[in-house]
Order: sequence, then structure tokens, then C-alpha cells
Amino acid sequence: AEAELMRSQRLESLSLLAAGLSHDLRNILQPLLIVPELIAQRSEDPRLHQLAKVVAECGRRGHEMAESMLSFVRGSRRASERIQLSDLFHAVQLLLKGSLPRQVELEVRLSDPALTLEGNYTELQQCLLNLCLNAIQAMPGGGRLELAAEEADGGVRLVVIDTGDGMDAQTLEQLFIPFFTTKSSGTGLGLVSCKRIVDGLGGRIAVASTPGEGTRFDVWLPAPADEAGAEAEEAAPLMAGQG
Ligand code: ADP
Repeated sequence: AEAELMRSQRLESLSLLAAGLSHDLRNILQPLLIVPELIAQRSEDPRLHQLAKVVAECGRRGHEMAESMLSFVRGSRRASERIQLSDLFHAVQLLLKGSLPRQVELEVRLSDPALTLEGNYTELQQCLLNLCLNAIQAMPGGGRLELAAEEADGGVRLVVIDTGDGMDAQTLEQLFIPFFTTKSSGTGLGLVSCKRIVDGLGGRIAVASTPGEGTRFDVWLPAPADEAGAEAEEAAPLMAGQG
């Protein structure tokens, strides 16, 4: 479970990195795709032609790399599905098992065992895992981790509460900034990726924390479209055919 955890975390971090890298790489390589040809056109020197060819080939390979990184990122934007929250919580519990210190007590609560969500299973699992792992890491001396879900505001609210170190105002401000971390071996990408996932589903993340007492993350996600009510239905005919 530990390895699986590490793998899925790294995959998630990687896709964030890859998105940024591929974008920059494509821009940086642009001259390499054009300039060698110009040089070859304007020079009779066979040695220069040869060099231009080498440079152009590097540009082509780099561009190919950027493209395949981009498609990796796009491919990881996975399809939405109906998710049984009890399944999701169960999976998170299993994955946490390996990283749960003895002195941390885990409590999982579902207000209704039939609660469902609309989203991508792997992504939501990753998001909850990130929040729970942060919570565990904030409780080096032990404490209680609470994972709960309830219906709220026409959607579902997921709550992750810990009785750990908490955060000061300055940390709270920087939480969602990529690469912000207070840990010696942190990536600073966990909450960034959580937020990306939640934003992608039209949801919201809220944080409340008190230094020395603990932290509470609230993730609110909208209800599946067909339960969103009649208002959405009324607008539907206008959208027809836009696929
Ligand atoms: P990382 O865990 O790699 O540092 P994150 O984006 O997941 O990256 O978290 C960023 C920072 O937010 C952490 O380094 C930590 O300072 C703070 N943080 C996140 N969750 C908690 C929590 N439950 N309790 C205390 N601090 C937290």
C-alpha cells in the first residue's frame, strides 16, 4: 500500500510538473524548429548545413517530448463517474493503513451510507489521501484523524479534521501555492493538486486551523447533474447539440 501511495502521489505531482514543463519547452524550442532551416538556406558551407541538420533534429526531438508530456497530462484528466462514497472512504482507509502511526486514531463517518458523488474516482481518492496524509504528518505526537461526509448545500461536504500542529496565518495564506512546503522533504504540490481536482468538479475547499490545536479541511462538491434540480433542466434545451 505504501508503494501504491507513493506512486499515485508522484503521478499526480508529475502531471503538474509536466504541464508546466511541456508548455515552456514548446516555447523555448520554437527557434530550433525555424532557425536551422534559415541558416541552411543562407549558407553554402556544407559544414554549416550539417550542423543545422543536427540542431533541427534536436529541436524536433524536444518538440516531440513536449507533445508527449502534454498528452500525458491531458490523458490524466480522467472521465467523470458516479462514485459511492462508502467505496471511496474504504479505499482511502486501506491506502492509509501503511502510513497510519499507532498513536493516531482514525475515525470515518458517513451521514448516509448511500451518499454518492460525481467525479473521477482516482482523482478524488488522491485528493482525500493528500489531505489525510497532511493531517497525519501534522500529528507527530499522535492524535485523532476524522474523515467524514454529509449532504450540504445541494451537494456533498467531505471533512478532514486533525488534532495536530495547526497552522499560523502566514502558512494558511500560502497553502495552495505550488511548491510551498514547511516540510524538509515536502513537494508543496499536494494541496495544489487537491485544489485543481476540486476546482475541476466545480467544488470549493475551505480551511480552518488553530496553531497547537488542529486543522479542518472542508471540501464541498456539487451534486451529480441529474440531481441538481429543475433549474439546470430549463437551461438544457439551449445547450442542446453543443456536445
Ligand atoms: P507538502 O505536504 O508536500 O508540504 P502540501 O501542498 O500538501 O505539500 O502542503 C503544504 C503545506 O501546508 C505543508 O507543508 C504544511 O505546512 C501545510 N499543511 C497542510 N495540511 C496541514 C495540516 N493538516 N496541518 C498542518 N499543516 C498543514
